[in-house]
Formats: sequence, C-alpha cells, structure tokens
Amino acid sequence: MKRFVYADNAATTPVSREVLDAMLPCFERDFGNPSSQHSLGIEAKDILDDARARIAAVLGCRADEIYFTSGGTESDNWAIKGAAMRMRAKGRTHIVTSKIEHHAVLHTCEALEKEGFEVSYVGVDSDGVVDLNELRSVVTDKTAVVAIMYANNEIGTIEPIEEIAEIAHAKGALCFTDAVQAVGNVDIDLSKSGVDMLALSGHKLHAPKGIGLLYIRKGVVISNLIEGGGQEKRKRGGTENLPYIVGLARALEIAKEKMPDLERVAAMRDRLIEALTAIPYSSLNGHRTKRLPGLVNVGFEFIEGESMLMWLDMAGICASTGSACSSASLDPSHVLLATGVPHERAHGSLRLSLSHDTTDADVDYIIENVAPIVEKLRNMSPLWEDVVKNKK
Ligand code: PLP
Repeated sequence: MKRFVYADNAATTPVSREVLDAMLPCFERDFGNPSSQHSLGIEAKDILDDARARIAAVLGCRADEIYFTSGGTESDNWAIKGAAMRMRAKGRTHIVTSKIEHHAVLHTCEALEKEGFEVSYVGVDSDGVVDLNELRSVVTDKTAVVAIMYANNEIGTIEPIEEIAEIAHAKGALCFTDAVQAVGNVDIDLSKSGVDMLALSGHKLHAPKGIGLLYIRKGVVISNLIEGGGQEKRKRGGTENLPYIVGLARALEIAKEKMPDLERVAAMRDRLIEALTAIPYSSLNGHRTKRLPGLVNVGFEFIEGESMLMWLDMAGICASTGSACSSASLDPSHVLLATGVPHERAHGSLRLSLSHDTTDADVDYIIENVAPIVEKLRNMSPLWEDVVKNKK
C-alpha cells in the first residue's frame, strides 16, 4: 500500500506541535516589542531573556553569548565576514575553510576573495573527513578565521571539530563552525567544543524557517553584518522575532530531551545503509560511523539521482540527491567530488535523512521501493546495457 514517507529532514523539518503551541501566545497575547518601555514590551523582553537563557542551558554557554539571526545563512555570513573584517586590522587577511562546506560558507568566502582576502580550501579524505595535516600546513599567523562545518549536510560526516579549533588557536586564528546539521543530532556542549563561533538554524530541528543564532564566545569581537537599532547588544539590528525565538528555545529543549532516541534513529539509518548498499554497483557516501544519526547517502552507478527522486516521489517518498539549496543546479555535488567520487557516479546519489518521527515501517517502505526503482532506471540506461552484455 502506498504511504507518505518524509525522508528529507536535512532539507527542512516540520514544526512540531509542542513548538507551535509554545509560539502561539507570542503572536496573540505577548506580541509586544521587547524594546518598548510599557508593560507589554517589558513582558516581551522577559520572554526573550527567558528563551535566551534556556537556549544557553541546552548549548552549554552563557546567555550573553547568543545572538539571534534569521537562520543558518545569515549566521554563516556574519561569522566569516565579521571575523574577516575585524581581524584585517590586525594584518590577518587569510581565511581557511573546507571544500565540502555549504554554499552559505563557500560563497561568503568567494565574496571575501573579491575583497582582497586570500582563502584556502582544505581537502577531505574519501569519507569526507577534513585533512588535518593539510589544515595544519595552511593555517598561519595571517589567518583570521578557520571556518569548518560540524557535520556535512550531504554525506553526514562529522568533523573533528575540537582538533580543528586547536589548530586554529595555535596560530591565533578564530574557529567558526557551521553546526546547522549537527545541532539536535549531536550532543553539543559549547563549554567543551573549543570553537569561538557556532551557527545553527531552527528549521532543521522542528522550529520554523527564518530563525537561527550565532554563538560568539565571550571576549571574541567581530564586526557587525546587519546595522540597525540597539538589539542584540548593538551587534545585530532588527526587532527580535520573538515567536520564532521562543519556538527555537522549545525546539532545542525537545531535541536535548530526545537525545536518547537518536540511537533508534541511528539503527534505522544503519538498516537502510545495509539494505541499499546490498544493491549491486552501489556504495555509501560519507564516513561509516562518524556520521549524523539520521543521514544516509548512497551512490548508485548507471542512474541519475534526479530520475530516482521523481520515481520515489511518485511512490510517496520525499528524498533528495544532496543539498536542497543547490538542487536547482544539475552540476554534480561539490561535496562528492571533493571526496573523490568520479563525475559519473556523483550524479547517481540519493540522500535520505531521517528524524525522530521516522518509523521502522517507513524504513521498510523505502527499502521495498528503492531496489525496483534502481532496476527500472538501469534498464533504461545504455551504459547499464553494456555492463549486462559484458557479464554474459
Ligand atoms: N549550513 C548548512 C550545513 C545547511 O545544511 C544549511 C541549510 O541547508 C544552511 C547552512 C543554511 O541554513 P538556512 O536554511 O537556515 O539559511
């Protein structure tokens, strides 16, 4: 029987009922502007302070280290541009990032190159783990910031972020991590991670789209990206999006409470990996164990990922080939190419991203559907015909 299975949680997640319930009073009753001097404004300011404190408790940082933004893209832009602009005055005009970052980071770095900054793009191994030796060799006392993601959004590999921070700090550079995919899926304790800045986004963890934050460790000073009023300690102008901030706080608390359930999610992920890599001419993309608990990325030779998505969609399964933000482009994934996957194979990848809402029956349904779709598409491929002929 046809089911609906949402397996694209790395692209976005539905807002959970509990998060929505927490937000609703801020639209109707507690709608004041936290900067207003009257009682409604003071009440809104209390709600804002409370949300910030609760988020700090979840992340293991101080409340005054959290700055609300419109999401992951803004946080990435702010951290890197803000650090680059600030550190330029100290003669630091070099930025280090990796080849597998999200475009919010890569395009920010490219924009800074046009402003005269030099950028080093560090490579990764075949599992997508950043090459620490290369990193050590490129970070110098001219480096302003090392920007490397906590976990990759396409292949799910988790990076050795504590070591990356140590390498950055050894040369006096700042360390920023885009943790948009990691938060909610990895238990992050900012008091131990060693990073100076961290970006997260609400819509990846059952809060709405358009809310995120940048953690900036106390004592670290970066330039502003968005000028305006005195909000966020004069570091990020704009009236605070109180309902969404309250939603983000609740979503982070729920994600923390549900950490033990990630074992179940990881077991479903492993079952999918086992079943899908048993299909001939398929292989896992990303690290086998150092990976996000809900993320599966499998490459199938002799087929186009986009065709597979269409057939899966007709079967009621929402999946993706890589990152949603670059899905309009038919270029092969820069992440897969960086791991050494050849062009022709990089086109046949399938990303399935699970969540706490995913069930074993959903996983069974995906498994039942993928193999026949792969077979059907291969039977239409002239390249596959050659493989079959050569085997005879
Ligand atoms: N960074 C990573 C790793 C992501 O996966 C995404 C979204 O897919 C972003 C940044 C952008 O976040 P947002 O959609 O909140 O702007």
